[in-house]
Amino acid sequence: MAVMTEAEDSEINPFDAMMSRFDVAAQKLHLDEGLYQFLRYPRREVTVYIPVFMDTGRLQVFTGYRVQHNISRGPSKGGIRFAPDVTLDEMKALAAWMTWKCAVVNIPFGGAKGGVICDPSRMSSGELERLTRRYTAELYEFLGPEKDVPAPDVNTNEQIMAWVMDTYSMHAHQTVTGVITGKPVELGGSAGRLEATGRGITIVVKEACKRLGLDCAGAPVVIQGFGNVGSIAAQLLSSEGFRVVAVSDLRGGIYDPAGLDIGRVSAYNRRNRTLEGFPDAEPVTNRELLELPCDILIPAATENQITSHNADRIRARIIAEGANGPTTAKADEILDEKRIFIIPDILANAGGVTVSYFEWAQDRQGFFWKESEVNERLGDYMTNSFHEVFRYSEAHSVNMRIASYMLAIDRVARGTRIRGLYA
Ligand code: NAD
Repeated sequence: MAVMTEAEDSEINPFDAMMSRFDVAAQKLHLDEGLYQFLRYPRREVTVYIPVFMDTGRLQVFTGYRVQHNISRGPSKGGIRFAPDVTLDEMKALAAWMTWKCAVVNIPFGGAKGGVICDPSRMSSGELERLTRRYTAELYEFLGPEKDVPAPDVNTNEQIMAWVMDTYSMHAHQTVTGVITGKPVELGGSAGRLEATGRGITIVVKEACKRLGLDCAGAPVVIQGFGNVGSIAAQLLSSEGFRVVAVSDLRGGIYDPAGLDIGRVSAYNRRNRTLEGFPDAEPVTNRELLELPCDILIPAATENQITSHNADRIRARIIAEGANGPTTAKADEILDEKRIFIIPDILANAGGVTVSYFEWAQDRQGFFWKESEVNERLGDYMTNSFHEVFRYSEAHSVNMRIASYMLAIDRVARGTRIRGLYA
């Protein structure tokens, strides 16, 4: 395995990536030193050791985390991921990102993130259920609709959210649907939540096209990642008249400059659980895919895909970040020089957390909205947030990423100052 230099390691370290943008925005805002320190560190980091009886009868202890970054504007909010490479540093970065994301779209939450070091692909459903329930029980005192509200993230889904809700409710001796979002609709989930992130991306891409004077009809789009976010964005964009020319999954991509039939691609993917072998399209690697000529590039797979190594070969006019942290800070500098317009993750993929906010509000109201109402409200939040960030970027002569951070940090800092939390 190639050994990474310190600079390369720092380029892809999620906490460094978050902090380098935070630092630029904080300096531009002339954030005072005390507040800078307060916002730099999480409020709380909890580590739990989770004993689980595996199907073999052997007892295995897993390590789990929950990091709560900030609660100045409301309860903390953020996903739970199950993955072998979960680290505390990553949780800290993602928790802070959630604080900024919630503030950019102006919903009343702070940020949090949780994770368990495990490989769910090698665990049975029973093992995953026992792990989820014990993780939730260990964190019981830190969670709650008024405290910290988790959601799905990498390798966690509606079923896992249902187990969290049930375990929390068992300890509370009452049904508490609002403790978690991304639940099945039968248990207080929201209509439209599954599609929300892809829908949010579609909305901001259309607004960006309008601002840049780009015609949406037939505009070529390249999407990396064909999971929840990428596939929904592909479907919605193609139904809006964009021409989706390439999509990919972990194994590689498919490319047709004339435009892919996304309905057929989705059906193929559902049948085969991969895009590999899709007929009537040219296979491309994920590396090649990112460098294809297009108007809109949507990295919707994972972090650190656009780095100092490939940024100068990116040929898109707009990058809309579906994934969290797909572009490194060093790549940002190169893309800035190339005048590529970036809709940063904390804005572009905020549709998911926005509908999670609607879910939490519906659970607390005990009154559920129609899908059309959810989508209309999501449209308002995403459109307004896009234009607020755009105006901010013009007013302060900064790119969209720094504008998003500035707007978010300013909102959190104001809330903190008014509360006197930090006095
Ligand atoms: P998912 O697991 O449903 O899909 C991920 C897709 O990316 C799959 O097609 C997978 O094959 C592909 N992929 C994974 N690693 C890859 C790699 N190294 N190279 C190329 N393709 C790869 O996940 P998702 O829910 O669609 O989330 C995708 C990204 O969006 C993640 O970064 C996630 O944190 C972020 N995100 C998701 C939501 C949401 O609501 N689902 C909200 C905000 C942000």
